[in-house]
Amino acid sequence: MEMKDAPIIGKDALGRDVRDLSVIPWWGVDRKTIDWSPTIDSGKCSGCATCFITCGRRVYDWDTELQKAVVVQPDNCQVGCTTCANLCPSGAIRFPDLTVAHHAAARAQMVKKAFQQTKHLRPEGAKPEEE
Ligand code: SF4
Ligand code: SF4
Repeated sequence: MEMKDAPIIGKDALGRDVRDLSVIPWWGVDRKTIDWSPTIDSGKCSGCATCFITCGRRVYDWDTELQKAVVVQPDNCQVGCTTCANLCPSGAIRFPDLTVAHHAAARAQMVKKAFQQTKHLRPEGAKPEEE
C-alpha cells in the first residue's frame, strides 16, 4: 500500500488531509508495533511551526490554544528518520534511541531485502552482510 492509498481520517488546522499511515506495514512489519515517533518538550518549544509545516506525513497539528505544534499521529512518522528534530531551532524534539529503529530493521530483515533489491547491481557471487 502506498501513502496515497491510506485512509483520510480528517484535516489538520490548515485544512490539509490527514491520512492514517500506520496501516502501511514498514517493510513487512506492522507499523503500530514500532515505537518510533517524536516527542515535543513543550517548555523548550517556541511555537515556530517549522515541524508542523514541514512534516509531510502529518505527524503534527497546530494547537491554537497553546500556540504550539503537537504530535497527533505518532505512527505516521517514518521509522528511523529525525528530520524535524534536526530542523527544530529550539532543540525541542526528541526521538527514541536509535536501537529502536535498528531492532525494527532486524525484524524487517532489512539487510537481506536491501541486498535482494540491489543484487543485479553487484558482482556475481556477492553475498549479503550478516544482520
Ligand atoms: S520546530 Fe521545534 S520550536 Fe518549532 S514548533 Fe516544532 S517543536 Fe516547537
Ligand atoms: S521524522 Fe519526518 S516523518 Fe517523522 S515527524 Fe519528523 S518530519 Fe515527520
